[in-house]
Parts: sequence; C-alpha cells; structure tokens
Amino acid sequence: MNPRQLVAAQQKIAAACGTHIIQDVVTAIEQRGTRKGREVGDGDAGHAEVQEGEGSRDGGLKVVRYRAGEGGGGGVGEGEGEQDEGVGGDETNFRISLSGGRTVFAHKIVVAPGAYLNLSNILKNVVNGGVGGGGVVFDLALAGQTVAFVEVSAASADLLKEMPCIITSYASGELDGTYILPPVLYPDGLHYIKIGHHNKFERELKTKEEVEEWYRTGEGDPEAVKELALFLSQILPDIEQLNVFGGCCVTANTPDKAAPLVLKVCEGVVVAAGGCGYAAKSCDEIGRIAAQLL
Ligand SMILES: Cc1cc2nc3c(=O)[nH]c(=O)nc-3n(C[C@H](O)[C@H](O)[C@H](O)COP(=O)(O)OP(=O)(O)OC[C@H]3O[C@@H](n4cnc5c(N)ncnc54)[C@H](O)[C@@H]3O)c2cc1C
Repeated sequence: MNPRQLVAAQQKIAAACGTHIIQDVVTAIEQRGTRKGREVGDGDAGHAEVQEGEGSRDGGLKVVRYRAGEGGGGGVGEGEGEQDEGVGGDETNFRISLSGGRTVFAHKIVVAPGAYLNLSNILKNVVNGGVGGGGVVFDLALAGQTVAFVEVSAASADLLKEMPCIITSYASGELDGTYILPPVLYPDGLHYIKIGHHNKFERELKTKEEVEEWYRTGEGDPEAVKELALFLSQILPDIEQLNVFGGCCVTANTPDKAAPLVLKVCEGVVVAAGGCGYAAKSCDEIGRIAAQLL
C-alpha cells in the first residue's frame, strides 16, 4: 500500500463529507471558558489534573481529571487581522494557534502528532503535570529505525512483479526479522526494494535534538543497512544489487508495543498516538475509536 495515496484518499473522502482541511502546524492549544460571553483568563485557565495510576512508566500520564477554570478575568485577545475558523465562536472550549498566524476554535479535539506528542509538549496549556509541571508526559518511547533501499534493474523489477510484501520473523546474522517491499519505481526513475528490521537495531531517541539529528543525517545505522542488504541477497540470490543506501524513520512505542495510545485526557480532548510501527493498517479504526471517545 502506498501510504501517501492512502492519506490522499482519506483526505478526499473527508473533504467530500464536509471536512475543511487546513495544512499548517499547531503551535499551541489553549483552553477557554465555556460560558458564552466570558473567557477564562490566561492565568487561571481551566485545566485537567494528572493523577497517578497503574500501567505507566516514568510517572507518565495515567488518569486525567478535568477541572474547569475559576473566575473570570481578562479574555484572550484576538490579534488584528487574525483569521478565525471553527465552530461556535465564544462558546467553544479550545483555541488552537497555527504557525501561519491563524486561529481555529473547536469544541473537541483529537490530538495526533505522532512522535511529536511528548516532544512538542503540545498539551501543556491544557493538561498540567509532567516533568517540572511543564505539561503532561505520555508513556511513549521513541525508536529510530533504519531501512535499506536496494536498487535493482528494470528487468529485475519485472521479474519480481508478482512478489508480495514479505515479513520474516527469524534471526539471521544480526537481524531478528525483516519486512520487505517488492520493487517500487521511485520518482528518480529507479527501482528499489525497501527492507527494514524488527526490534534489533532500534535506537532509543530521548530528546527533540536526538530525533532531529536522526532525521537530519537521514541515513540510518550503516551496520543495519549492511545486514539488511546481505539478508536480501540471501533470499534473492539471483537479483543483482546495483546500489544500496540507507534511510530512517522514527516509531512511537507504547509499553511492550501492546496497543496504540488512544486516551481521553480531559473533557473535549482525545490523544491518539503510539502506533508502535503497526498503525497505518489500522488507522481508520484507531481514528474512529478516538472520535467516539470524544
Ligand atoms: C518505515 C516505516 C514503515 C512502516 N510500515 C508500516 C506498515 O507496513 N504497516 C503499518 O500498519 N504501519 C507501518 N508503519 C507505522 C505507521 O506508519 C505508523 O504507526 C503510523 O503512521 C502512526 O500514525 P500517527 O497518526 O500516530 O502518526 P504519524 O503518521 O507520524 O502522523 C502524525 C502527523 O502529525 C503531524 N504533526 C506533528 N506535530 C504537528 C503539529 N504541531 N501541528 C500539525 N501537525 C503536526 C506530522 O507531521 C504527521 O503528519 C511504518 C512506519 C515506518 C516509519
């Protein structure tokens, strides 16, 4: 499956159902008063409290109790020339700031920023807690993963045109398993077989800087690339490897990769993240559950 085509199809369906899609980066989410004509001031905004509970690592979020802000106070000012979108105006609960300068108002939000959920601390104005009280920390571990792109000739690609996507689950060399895509024609006009690993060669990434450096370098772990190309040559011995290079990605993992994180963190806010490297195939259902939790 081509993930870009999947997202494009989902966006087309959403637009046909009346969804207005805005391509922008969310820089802040703030809670507002819910009574018409009054907004809670910045200093005493309504908030949710993080409580300790079971099943969490490193004091991360377990249970969240919502408490509305008290008192009135200065409203949240709207900058001149700001374009406001969304539903309900003053009656909405959340104000979402976008990097392009726009503001969106919403009654309910699903927050799904992938690996950036903790790194961007995007809910810090909505849910208190976390390290130093600076926002909530969700129980997610980030893993850098490596993929190898193995170039094959057009003739080899034709030979392998019936090849299915393959997952191997046995140890071989330094690998504990692989996933392999059949040859795909890339925009550079060349055919590549993409092969990635399982848990072995995962690299824990803890900070935003580490994640950004991992992406900036963009080549993954050279040792993993070598092992992956070697493995491919063993299962496809007659296919000449014209060129090999590495790529990388980051997966967001919940404890034991048991299930994605789909959590109502306070009234009107659901978080959906922690796909554990498996969520693309289930994204429609994960999204449906997240929406229903609202
Ligand atoms: C190499 C690789 C191969 C994979 N293969 C498979 C597979 O074969 N099958 C499968 O099921 N899964 C696969 N996965 C896993 C799957 O891609 C993920 O589980 C899934 O994409 C996670 O979805 P998500 O919505 O949680 O996060 P993402 O897909 O990462 O989406 C999060 C989005 O939020 C955006 N964002 C972040 N911060 C902000 C912000 N502040 N404002 C606005 N937008 C923001 C990001 O740009 C991104 O577009 C693979 C992953 C990788 C890396």
